[in-house]
Amino acid sequence: MSVTGLCQICETAEAERTCGVCGAAVCEDDYDADAGACVECARIAGGGVDGGPA
Ligand SMILES: [Zn+2]
Ligand SMILES: [Zn+2]
Repeated sequence: MSVTGLCQICETAEAERTCGVCGAAVCEDDYDADAGACVECARIAGGGVDGGPA
């Protein structure tokens, strides 16, 4: 299933990723690969989700 349309965060770039948390279609710039989520969800989740040393 391909994602088409604009990023739901910046609404200027083409969405190429889907947030694994909220399901929003977002562009590369607004996708946090480490969190597997959009930057909004990554921000809410905060850092250290893996429990690694800071
Ligand atoms: Zn974007
Ligand atoms: Zn999200």
